[in-house]
Amino acid sequence: MKEDILKKMPGVQRGVLLEDYTTYKIGGPAKYFFVAKNKKELISALEFAKKNKFPVFILGGGSNLLVSDKGFKGLVIQVRISNFEFQVSKNVFVGAGMGLTKLAYACAEKGLSGLEWAAGIPSATIGGAIYGHAQAFGIKISDTIKEVTTINLKTLEIKKFLRKQCQFSLKNSIFKKTKKFVIISAVLKLKEKNTKEVKKSIKEFLDYRKNGHPMKFSSAGSTFVNPEAKIKNKKLLIKFPELVVYNKKGIIPAGFLIAKCGLAGRKIGSAQISEKHANFILNLGGAKAKDILALIKLAKKEVKKKFNINMETEVQLIGF
Ligand SMILES: Cc1cc2nc3c(=O)[nH]c(=O)nc-3n(C[C@H](O)[C@H](O)[C@H](O)COP(=O)(O)OP(=O)(O)OC[C@H]3O[C@@H](n4cnc5c(N)ncnc54)[C@H](O)[C@@H]3O)c2cc1C
Repeated sequence: MKEDILKKMPGVQRGVLLEDYTTYKIGGPAKYFFVAKNKKELISALEFAKKNKFPVFILGGGSNLLVSDKGFKGLVIQVRISNFEFQVSKNVFVGAGMGLTKLAYACAEKGLSGLEWAAGIPSATIGGAIYGHAQAFGIKISDTIKEVTTINLKTLEIKKFLRKQCQFSLKNSIFKKTKKFVIISAVLKLKEKNTKEVKKSIKEFLDYRKNGHPMKFSSAGSTFVNPEAKIKNKKLLIKFPELVVYNKKGIIPAGFLIAKCGLAGRKIGSAQISEKHANFILNLGGAKAKDILALIKLAKKEVKKKFNINMETEVQLIGF
């Protein structure tokens, strides 16, 4: 019976360890695993899952994921559709599996600006960046999005979304809110700029990340979304004057809140809240998903207790 299922969908593998597909280097096996290198393969895999009633998880570069030690009991489809094409009017058509870093450098060579900030995000794909509305240094992926082409996970209907229809908000999009669509491709609109200047800008962002982020250990980047919150408690405002500035901005760095709870450096098993940037939880080597999850819960609990803020976990939890 098992053999029959796999024969009907060549390329599907069984029991693939997801730790090899996440930047955390954590995660148990996917019951079934398939790499879709083009739209046709993606549709076939979705049809196969639908027919066999398998739960589906769509994987990009695995840089925003915490996968359970037990893995995922369904079909993981990694979207590796990575063709891209420069079009007229500074537009670029790009497959959802294209790496952000690779695309940023390709655009630089072509004298196109808009993705420099994204060059240092390891493994991340365009699809994952659109899904989670990736952003850094005040620049957002939505600043460059013109349209996004998707396929509905259930009906397999192809649907295009113009930027406005993507409902982008802080680290969110219609794709993340509904979990109904697989992103196949996008058209980005960039700006003309001298190649040298674009490359200089990429280097500046890379240097900033090198200095400010804990890049020596595996992680999934920022663990929590920076809360859009204002602190009114006078005692807290006196104790932590930085809060006055954050109140004006309307957004408080999660790393600041976690550090002020005295949690920077806290370890559970081989997982640690970074001392350098407390919004990063690190795999020091051999950490289990349950260790990372325990630190996530601890940070949430302590921040709620001290600041009365509910932090939203940005890292997507899979298979829990
Ligand atoms: C060192 C480091 C630095 C980082 N810096 C930043 C940063 O500056 N800014 C920032 O925003 N993020 C940052 N991140 C987080 C992460 O890289 C981004 O969120 C990235 O956009 C995720 O893309 P991905 O392809 O790896 O997605 P994955 O981690 O594979 O998946 C994330 C989510 O997107 C969904 N998804 C992926 N592809 C598709 C698709 N084609 N269709 C539908 N859904 C899809 C998945 O189902 C999952 O729910 C960082 C991560 C690391 C490790």
